[in-house]
Amino acid sequence: MFRTIATGLSVAGILFASFVFVMLIGDSLGFALSDRLLGSVFPITISTPDLHKAYMTEKIKILIVPGHDNEYGGAQYRDIRESDLTLGAARNLEAYFKKDARFETVTTRDTSTGNYTPVIQSYFDQHRDDIVVFKNIAKKKMEMLKSHNFLDRNVSIERNSVSSEIAFRLYGINKWANENDIDIVLHVHFNDYPGHRGRAGDHTGFSIYVPERQYGNADASKDLARTLFDELKNTIGPSTLPLERDGVIEDQELIALGANGSLKSASVLIEYGYIYEPQYVYEATRSPMMQELAFQTYRAVKKHFEKNSPVYASSQTALLPYRWSDGLEKGIKGSAGVLALQAALKKDGLYPPPGKSLIDCPLTGSFGACTELAVRMFQQRHAAEVLGGDSPTGRVGVATAKKLNEVFGRD
Ligand SMILES: [Zn+2]
Repeated sequence: MFRTIATGLSVAGILFASFVFVMLIGDSLGFALSDRLLGSVFPITISTPDLHKAYMTEKIKILIVPGHDNEYGGAQYRDIRESDLTLGAARNLEAYFKKDARFETVTTRDTSTGNYTPVIQSYFDQHRDDIVVFKNIAKKKMEMLKSHNFLDRNVSIERNSVSSEIAFRLYGINKWANENDIDIVLHVHFNDYPGHRGRAGDHTGFSIYVPERQYGNADASKDLARTLFDELKNTIGPSTLPLERDGVIEDQELIALGANGSLKSASVLIEYGYIYEPQYVYEATRSPMMQELAFQTYRAVKKHFEKNSPVYASSQTALLPYRWSDGLEKGIKGSAGVLALQAALKKDGLYPPPGKSLIDCPLTGSFGACTELAVRMFQQRHAAEVLGGDSPTGRVGVATAKKLNEVFGRD
């Protein structure tokens, strides 16, 4: 989609000079110009109606950013690096969006090697100085706005500030997105929090970060995030970290979302879950789970634009169909068969069992009490074929596997 975008140092310089001028006048007149000024400092850069129009008439340009990179890997749990997980999710996202003619899809990193794509890498290399100036102007402007109380400081989560090289890359991506008329920037991450030291932590679930409301890309981002949240919560439980309890969280300082007014596109940062959650730790469940996360994300974006999309109406999970063999029982961990079993039982309305949520009983591929109870209910439901007069076992034996294959299996 095409938008007129003021680019280049000279234009930015003029804007900055006029901003300083308005600032001085405002101060000398001694009254708050904040509302009017806000309109001119962070004007609305994108809206949900803009996006819908682009979807109907052109293509939505979506930039997928697999969080972190080969050099700075992000969170780490045992031998698992966040930057690899994000790459796996991005690879699947790219595949879904590329199949859809309504989207033009770009990724910042090559989803097989994890290196920045030649386009992005050469942008970093050739526009190093411009990116630094872009970053500094944005920061300066923000500092002045805050110091004159034209903008509220609004920080919910204190973070370690990122290294200047990481900041450079993130600002570089924003600048590139602005210049290339990107409509949506989708950042992919997996969460962690300090203090659990090599052991799996207590928190689970997903959250979505959006630009804080005073930014020009805030509303369109939040609308999209809401749709994403409402869809993803049917597959993964919301984050149990108290700071993330709202599910969709505004953030003023994440560069990825356009901190300091540095991004025009709608932008969401999805933390799909915690890096130590079993479905991501075990290799057998990791890859089907990445596909499922991508599928659900793609479906949600599609729904945002087209409520009655056939994509949206069709199969509700990428984990099915599946073909089971017998022998699944309590205690098994990291199994693709158990993961698909959980998805099948969920489709049948039996998982999570009554009174439980996806927070209590997530899709993990590990067979615990939740899965056992749901299998029992499945056996009861199909008692005549599965049990032959015996009581439910909660174990997938030959008859139960046969029934599962009949209902959810592939031929
Ligand atoms: Zn991250």
